[in-house]
Amino acid sequence: MKVDLALVGGGLANCLIALRLRQLRPELELLVVERGPRLGGNHTWSYHDSDLTAAQRAWLRPLVAHSWPCHELRFPRRVRVMEAGYNSVSSRRLHEVVGEALADRALLGREVAELAPDRVRLAGGTVIEAGAVIDGRGDPGGRHLELGFQKFLGLFLRLEHGHGLAAPILMDATVGQVDGYRFVYTLPLAADELLVEDTSYSDGPELDRERLRGSVRGYVRERGWGVAEVAGEEEGVLPIVLGGDIQGLWAAGPAGVARSGMRAALFHPTTGYSLAEAVRLADAIAAERVLGAETLFELTRRRSLELWRDNSFFRLLNRMLFRAAAPERRYLIFERFYGLPESLIHRFYAGRLRWTDKLRLLSGRPPVPLRRALACLGERRPAATGATTREAA
Ligand SMILES: Cc1cc2nc3c(=O)[nH]c(=O)nc-3n(C[C@H](O)[C@H](O)[C@H](O)COP(=O)(O)OP(=O)(O)OC[C@H]3O[C@@H](n4cnc5c(N)ncnc54)[C@H](O)[C@@H]3O)c2cc1C
Repeated sequence: MKVDLALVGGGLANCLIALRLRQLRPELELLVVERGPRLGGNHTWSYHDSDLTAAQRAWLRPLVAHSWPCHELRFPRRVRVMEAGYNSVSSRRLHEVVGEALADRALLGREVAELAPDRVRLAGGTVIEAGAVIDGRGDPGGRHLELGFQKFLGLFLRLEHGHGLAAPILMDATVGQVDGYRFVYTLPLAADELLVEDTSYSDGPELDRERLRGSVRGYVRERGWGVAEVAGEEEGVLPIVLGGDIQGLWAAGPAGVARSGMRAALFHPTTGYSLAEAVRLADAIAAERVLGAETLFELTRRRSLELWRDNSFFRLLNRMLFRAAAPERRYLIFERFYGLPESLIHRFYAGRLRWTDKLRLLSGRPPVPLRRALACLGERRPAATGATTREAA
């Protein structure tokens, strides 16, 4: 078999590339190879309107399962309603829409055993020749990044009665501060349906599932919401980058193969969220005139290195969060952050901070001890620190 472009992994990033190419470059022969039974796995991917341009929001629209005009944040000494749109893409919708666009160009339940710039070999031996290959196999883990973790477990709940929430609560940090900065994230999916996630910014990646299920149940009970049915569950352990060696990540190979999504470290360093970068990459690839192996390798590697360079300030903030603040006091950093102007907060999540924003973020009395904050200024390589990495964990 020979195709123009083989996309390895049918997760978020490669599905967005496939969708955008089907929309703009229908003449290209694509193939997505996904080891799971469905495209996109089991996720709910959310984003702020301000993370994307109007044109990007428009082409993503068919994948959006829920949209809300505003959202809320709750801290012990601050409650804030942000008058800004928030949206969720569901993996179910992604599977339906991208599956239809790809038709028979999605191979599901097939494992890729080997990748090269112009060919993939499936487990079982079938070789697919391709003009180019994109490795979108998700989070590579490993020793190249020094990480903290945003980890969560969420329950999809059908309630006995309406919950009365008009908008998502992205952070309710009035809960007990256990295992780092802890908050509950609630999305109202229908009048009597919620997704409720217990989340923490923690030093280690371990998920105590039983405890988290219990604390979601406890949170819901305290609000007087009776549960009729637990309709599903999702969990995540997302990388929060404190430092690392991006060149080493790329040098680990496979050599010369283009990458997308988490594989290319194309995510927001402070949230671990990758949807906005995946949308931007899909647009950039669709705009490339010739989609050859070398061009795509150069394009994806360059974007990854540039993002890494541009994000050094976020890694500094992450180090302050994880190293300077005691775990049970990390919430103070977010409480202070959410007192800043709404436009700055949007630019922060969009990964588009101005230098004046950076000054503003660092000005005033820091909510962490100054001496410990200063110690975070330098970025060390993980090999020299022996600090927590996903591999070490
Ligand atoms: C539960 C959860 C919720 C999240 N919520 C958000 C959110 O709200 N907003 C946001 O922006 N980000 C969110 N993220 C973070 C990030 O955006 C996701 O992890 C996103 O799915 C990463 O996209 P990706 O394409 O890089 O990898 P994935 O979506 O993880 O896709 C990788 C795919 O490759 C497949 N694969 C791996 N190896 C092989 C192989 N050898 N052969 C064939 N297939 C293979 C996997 O089965 C998988 O489907 C969330 C993550 C999780 C886990």
